[in-house]
Amino acid sequence: MKWCPNHGKTGCYMPADHNHDAWVKEKEAKNQGGSKRRNKRDTSNTSSPKTLKLQAKHRAALTSHLTTKFAMTDDDVAEFLNEVDESLVKE
Ligand SMILES: [Zn+2]
Repeated sequence: MKWCPNHGKTGCYMPADHNHDAWVKEKEAKNQGGSKRRNKRDTSNTSSPKTLKLQAKHRAALTSHLTTKFAMTDDDVAEFLNEVDESLVKE
């Protein structure tokens, strides 16, 4: 064993062949490649929607706009927005 002063605040005994630089790199690699980080990346991927369907707030805004400005009925607007949804999914 040999004393390595670069561990933590006070240092500690490490194996005699201890290579501190390599140890630090390995520790950083473990921290960056840990399961916690992998899981976080996975959830961020799955949370982004695969389709481009209109969100409820956009549907509501478009419905309001089309019924007032273009005198469309709610049913006409709903049908129109469904067609928009389908065309977005196809792209
Ligand atoms: Zn060390």
